[in-house]
Amino acid sequence: ESVFAHVVQAPEDPILGVTVAYNKDPSPVKVNLGVGAYRTEEGKPLVLNVVRRAEQLLVNDRSRVKEYLPITGLADFNKLSAKLIFGSDSPALQENRVTTVQCLSGTGSLRVGAEFLAKHYHQHTIYIPQPTWGNHPKVFTLAGLSVKTYRYYDPATRGLNFQGLLEDLGSAPLGAIVLLHACAHNPTGVDPTLEQWEQIRQLMRSKALLPFFDSAYQGFASGSLDADAQSVRMFAADGGELLAAQSYAKNMGLYGERVGALSIVCKSANVAAKVESQLKLVIRPMYSSPPIHGASIVATILKDSGMYHEWTIELKAMADRIISMRHQLFDALRARGTPGDWSHIIKQIGMFTFTGLNTEQVAFMTKEYHIYMTSDGRISMAGLRSRTVPHLADAIHAAVT
Ligand code: PMP
Repeated sequence: ESVFAHVVQAPEDPILGVTVAYNKDPSPVKVNLGVGAYRTEEGKPLVLNVVRRAEQLLVNDRSRVKEYLPITGLADFNKLSAKLIFGSDSPALQENRVTTVQCLSGTGSLRVGAEFLAKHYHQHTIYIPQPTWGNHPKVFTLAGLSVKTYRYYDPATRGLNFQGLLEDLGSAPLGAIVLLHACAHNPTGVDPTLEQWEQIRQLMRSKALLPFFDSAYQGFASGSLDADAQSVRMFAADGGELLAAQSYAKNMGLYGERVGALSIVCKSANVAAKVESQLKLVIRPMYSSPPIHGASIVATILKDSGMYHEWTIELKAMADRIISMRHQLFDALRARGTPGDWSHIIKQIGMFTFTGLNTEQVAFMTKEYHIYMTSDGRISMAGLRSRTVPHLADAIHAAVT
């Protein structure tokens, strides 16, 4: 008898489990709209040309060795990542008030930030939007924070519940942490407008709520790296403190390389240095130091103006293909006369559309049409192709009529 005999079978991850089910389906018409990873119009994963080029340079550089990185990661990568999110003219960067540490993609950056807060911040309550990325509550709870939600999405309008958001943040305890999606909110594709961000900022600063930005889609939402960082930069510009977790999974297509960064903007350089010393104590017993390859790719691209430019073009092409899929799906539903207002498909932004389809309708589409998506009705627009749009539109039409 195994000493682990009592261990019970855990359920599949609700998002990654969709792909497990998809892989098991022998149907030739099956479509996977579950996982949030970019696919080409041919349905293939994409390695950016600029990434291939950077990797070639790295391979050819015989002076490169495989020594450990410092606990905080690759220094160039950290500096350039901070510049990417806060902007090259950021006063916080010029004043050395920001500490940035390389972490294991977006998830690892969130976790390190949360562990730091649980240890060193006076408030242990973090407010996350309702709904949010399914991993958020688990990451924060396991780090020792206590998770509460604020209203975000309004099913009636399939847009932002701005009033509810302001009320919930307005009644949060002084100093509470608030998780904000920097852009392209997952799973809803609904973002505040710049005016609404400004109101959120004023409210949060007036109650000393601490912003923790999750930036997993910079450049992926609008196609512009600067436009997608506006929310973060607005908060950084007021001189207040904040955290930001960055991921290069989507915008550079580096998913499995696990490249990300955590930045903490502080009031002074002195505080930032002390915060960084404590981040090292969080990281060292967790994984000692981060991996070198992906961060080297990012640093190579970000520090060369030619490669940076090439990246922005490839990034915009990904964003544009997703936007084009939104229009094709919307047009296909309109052509079928599918009942309901589907304009949210073209209004929402980023990788996902929150369709409004319910659990039963999703189950029906999977069973009858072999379309795989999360049960909350979220579809990854990046998994869609011109060729598969009609099939999806047929499925949605059948599910709602
Ligand atoms: N935050 C959000 C909102 C996400 O959608 C994702 C990716 N699905 C992540 C963080 C983290 O992804 P990764 O760890 O792969 O960078």
